[in-house]
Amino acid sequence: MSTFTAPKGTYDLIPPTSAAFLAVRDALAAPLRAAGYGYVETPGFEDVELFARGVGESTDIVTKEMYTLTTKGGSELALRPEGTASVLRAALEANLHKAGNLPVKLWYSGSYYRYERPQKGRYRHFSQVGAEAIGTEDPALDAELILLADQAYRSLGLTGFRILLNSLGDRECRPAYRAALQDFLRGLDLDEETRRRIEINPLRVLDDKRAEVQAQLAGAPLLRDHLCEACRAYHAEVRELLTAQGVAFEDDPRLVRGLDYYTRTTFEFVHDGLGAQSAVGGGGRYDGLSEMIGGPALPSVGWALGVDRTVLALEAEGITLDVPPVTSVYAVPLGEEARKVLFAVVADLRRAGIATDFAYGGRGVKSAMKSAHRSGAWFALVAGGRDLADGVVQLKNMESGEQEPVALDAVVDKLRSRLG
Ligand code: AMP
Repeated sequence: MSTFTAPKGTYDLIPPTSAAFLAVRDALAAPLRAAGYGYVETPGFEDVELFARGVGESTDIVTKEMYTLTTKGGSELALRPEGTASVLRAALEANLHKAGNLPVKLWYSGSYYRYERPQKGRYRHFSQVGAEAIGTEDPALDAELILLADQAYRSLGLTGFRILLNSLGDRECRPAYRAALQDFLRGLDLDEETRRRIEINPLRVLDDKRAEVQAQLAGAPLLRDHLCEACRAYHAEVRELLTAQGVAFEDDPRLVRGLDYYTRTTFEFVHDGLGAQSAVGGGGRYDGLSEMIGGPALPSVGWALGVDRTVLALEAEGITLDVPPVTSVYAVPLGEEARKVLFAVVADLRRAGIATDFAYGGRGVKSAMKSAHRSGAWFALVAGGRDLADGVVQLKNMESGEQEPVALDAVVDKLRSRLG
């Protein structure tokens, strides 16, 4: 071990487990790519104000969890704690919404940073795959995103997750509900910080995880009883579309994202094998966010799925992904001369698109063959002085152990047909 370790609340992805992580990320993204979502990549940091406005001044993420920094030039930046604000910022900056092609559908994948209290499933650096559909209000779009997340999890073999669904109302009906909720909450026995939250963001209080708070919330008014006609109809259609697709969901009238510009559809994917950190993914509609960050009105919906927690969910269900080894051919040179010749053969194979690795460091045949086995390669190419004198290399089938000489200039074609 070196003097240094990974920072608190972080971990390294290392082979061989990193291969499964990569496969999970690919699987989460695959349904999006096949549904018209284009890839977007934004910087790992942004103007701190973007998140203050785009995530919300009263959220834990902004008040407690952001990694902020002041640059030498005096700019106030923050490592991104989530993806939606950045992606919307990028879409507006590139005027994607003006290209006459709404909704703008984007997907992304990357690292996010939150200064949280680390525990299993809760890290300070984590990975998400996300999707945003910008500029369209259509219950089918909300349903599409929920379906795609469901499909992504199922493609990995996961079954132990549930979908929680709610509607947060809109500018029409939310204010009256908010006031009713505030009235109710003000009458409860709550700590100073929570009391402050009642005034800034009362819906967030419903999300309080403490048992003593939840006990008092039993009789709280529910938004579901205050939805306006338009929101009620919208929500009914989302539910109908999901039901028609055979997607099971649970109505959770307490599910909030808690910010004033989150509207209507809100959902969370929870996995019951994960303990306290059970949310594997979540999202919803955020019709007011664009205006919050200085853009035009652009009703939008999106989600983010946690890659780390999806990997934990696979472990919890005892699912091992079948990740095939990458290396197809492993070259083992015996001696100085063979090293040069085989190095050239390896380069040729790679140019021909055959995944090939090489035993570096002038190793003995035994240790080199061990590496060949470990690489998962189908074939080894072994050559010593005598082989070279004959103009051949030995092609060894790693599974059967059979070996045959192949002329040097025929190696690429031979392997191409064998690996077909
Ligand atoms: P959120 O933006 O908080 O709704 O997060 C979306 C998803 O990202 C969650 O459902 C988690 O799967 C994942 N996630 C959020 N925060 C963390 C964290 N600190 N560590 C690991 N995964 C996280």
